[in-house]
Amino acid sequence: MSKNVLIIEGDGIGVEIIAAAEKVLKAVNEIDNLNLTFDTAMLGGRAYDQYGKPYPDDTQTKARAADAILFGALGGPQWDGKTERHLRPEAGLLDIRSDLGLFANLRPAVAFEQLVAASPLKPELVGGLDIMIVRELTGGIYFGQPRGIRTLENGEKQGFNTDVYKESEIRRIAKVAFEAAQKRNKRVCSVDKANVLEVTVLWREVMEEVAKGYPDVELSHMYVDNAAMQLVINPKQFDVLVTGNLFGDILSDEASMITGSIGMLPSASLDVNNKGFYEPCHGSAPDIAGQDIANPLATIMSAAMLLRYSIGAASSADRIQAAVGRVLDAGLRTKDIYSDGMTLIGCEAMGQAVVDAL
Ligand code: ATP
Ligand code: MG
Repeated sequence: MSKNVLIIEGDGIGVEIIAAAEKVLKAVNEIDNLNLTFDTAMLGGRAYDQYGKPYPDDTQTKARAADAILFGALGGPQWDGKTERHLRPEAGLLDIRSDLGLFANLRPAVAFEQLVAASPLKPELVGGLDIMIVRELTGGIYFGQPRGIRTLENGEKQGFNTDVYKESEIRRIAKVAFEAAQKRNKRVCSVDKANVLEVTVLWREVMEEVAKGYPDVELSHMYVDNAAMQLVINPKQFDVLVTGNLFGDILSDEASMITGSIGMLPSASLDVNNKGFYEPCHGSAPDIAGQDIANPLATIMSAAMLLRYSIGAASSADRIQAAVGRVLDAGLRTKDIYSDGMTLIGCEAMGQAVVDAL
């Protein structure tokens, strides 16, 4: 019955933020008797240095067997400029996503009351903001074939990609969105470009079809250009926002920025059985790596999502969220979220503060 969590540091600040999040996860495991077991593996640049590829076989074996994976971040300047795809740390992330069939990317965009002043929007627009963005992660234009750069008869080059979605792919991401909405405020807004792109005409049709199975959830549709505007002028109108791979990439970054808490946002990528890969929305921040100043809270809240979605331990997840809230209430801040009058602490101390608050 015991579930296994694979812990992967990655590169850069991944090492420090995972150390902090691991401490929190293990503390909750003790407190709530979750019976979790832990293992570790490598992914990204350091994995490439050691094994010759960013998603090593050892990691693959462990990742396939695990119930959930907690990940830090990967990449850094020492690996930049590699031209061949399989040599780039970032390829490790794409490989593990497609290997594990992680088709559903969940990114909450939540404004923390204590940090609302850092938002580029007026405080009244973001106070209380709580959106869940559900992005399709293994299809659409990022994976569609044919793709490439070809030379035309006149010698001019032409780049091309293909945006494709099958009904079954749309249906399964729709279900994730509707099920998330049932546990929230029961509204799904599907974002497409159905006035221009056929692939999203089908997207809209399938969303309507799936909605019939969730009569308690209200479905609306919005064109992506309008959605980008609405996120800035009235973000609180949204509950769950569901969209394809490309639009989701853009809108989830936009939504996380307006919270003013970019270093505070977790994410989950799930397969059909709720096995998941959990990571902060931010990157490996090579500029501050190894200095004990990174903010570990996004990773700590990713661990909370892990407990909620892959372990089925919602109350333990709530416990972590509440502990993070108490730490912020107490005025403890890492450098990225620091403001006058607050107490500046480092990455390790922030992890310990959350453990203490548990
Ligand atoms: P990626 O390409 O992996 O998405 P990026 O290079 O665009 O990432 P990040 O690595 O997220 O961006 O870093 C962007 C900026 O935010 C950097 O200045 C970095 O120091 C800062 N930053 C990112 N994450 C954190 C964190 N957890 N704590 C503090 N600062 C952070
Ligand atoms: Mg980067």
